[in-house]
Amino acid sequence: MEIKRLTPTKAEAHILLGAQRDYVNRGNTAVKCPRCGRSLEYRCGESGESIYCTDDMCIVVHTRGI
Ligand SMILES: [Zn+2]
Repeated sequence: MEIKRLTPTKAEAHILLGAQRDYVNRGNTAVKCPRCGRSLEYRCGESGESIYCTDDMCIVVHTRGI
């Protein structure tokens, strides 16, 4: 098992989910990664949605699609 990314704290996850909401609503976000300050990226796929830091070793939040 490979764990590449860190698990966000509750507060960090809350910030990432806010950024995800921005992406869903208007296609971008001004929110930066709460841990390292880099940009956040959003991806929507068959297995659900992800909002993640552009640093490969940083944090990510996965949510299920509807
Ligand atoms: Zn980061």
